[in-house]
Amino acid sequence: MQALRDAVVAAYPRLSHRYYRLKAKWLGLDRLEVWDRNAPLPLEEDRRIPWAEAERTVIEAYAAFDPRLADLARPFFGRGWIDAGVKPGKAPGAFAHPTVTDAHPYVMLNYLGKPRDVMTLAHELGHGVHQILAAGQGELLSATPLTLAETASVFGEMLTFRKLLAEAPDAKARKALLAGKVEDQINTVIRQIAFYDFESKLHAARRLGELTVEDINALWMAVQAESLGDAFVFAPGYESFWTYIPHFVHSPFYVYAYAFGDGLVNALYAVWEEGDPDFRDKYFEMLRAGGSRHHRELLAPFGLDASDPRFWDKGLAMIERLIDELEAMDA
Ligand SMILES: [Zn+2]
Repeated sequence: MQALRDAVVAAYPRLSHRYYRLKAKWLGLDRLEVWDRNAPLPLEEDRRIPWAEAERTVIEAYAAFDPRLADLARPFFGRGWIDAGVKPGKAPGAFAHPTVTDAHPYVMLNYLGKPRDVMTLAHELGHGVHQILAAGQGELLSATPLTLAETASVFGEMLTFRKLLAEAPDAKARKALLAGKVEDQINTVIRQIAFYDFESKLHAARRLGELTVEDINALWMAVQAESLGDAFVFAPGYESFWTYIPHFVHSPFYVYAYAFGDGLVNALYAVWEEGDPDFRDKYFEMLRAGGSRHHRELLAPFGLDASDPRFWDKGLAMIERLIDELEAMDA
């Protein structure tokens, strides 16, 4: 955990600081306010992607990695295991839910036809495929711990993102895809680690004595300024925004899990890109293990070790390359 925190904090200037300077420029602003952080990018196109095209995109992306992955995903479409339509009264969000290990999982989505919805479809199918592969472990060991729960989902999303990127019709579409991906990754990796860092500092300070609201606000603002960078100004009132994160009270330090999952997959994807010939078999083996083994054991065959800061740097370098490309397109 310390390795992940240290690697990400050291990468703030190379990742979030650079990206938000670009975003300020795209929005035509000198400085960003916190509400601009997730503002829609002015680059996005209006085209809606039909469901059939989303299905084909994801299945082809999965098949290009390994036909076995596509074979596992296909029945979700053909046999009605996905509820994708938006209708009144339906819960928001998306998830894949296992049932029992001798039956199949279900996927719930709210598909609106944006490129991000195609990525969400790829994500939830990744969970579905993971749940099918791990079912062999039985009821007690099939569920993966948080550290590995997002492996197949984020990996499937990455495969699909790469395919959409490779097929982008023009530079504008490419830029919108790249920016969307970078922004998602900053929200998952950088922001959640900044939350974790805030919690660590808060708990350490509390150990030395009681804290006033002003003390907590000051810790929050210091971490926010450090992680978001010089593109931001902070309007009065943001000091107390730490109160909007329920995890800080209800599941302390839980936020690390999001960053851990994304960082792990980025590192795995980097190994795949480096061309390990046995990567796919090892990957299936890892998914089949479900929750039966620790990540240390499951990552060892890939030559990866999550306690080594260089492991996290591998994944962070991948985000950095996407930002390099965005900067080059903007020059
Ligand atoms: Zn997920």
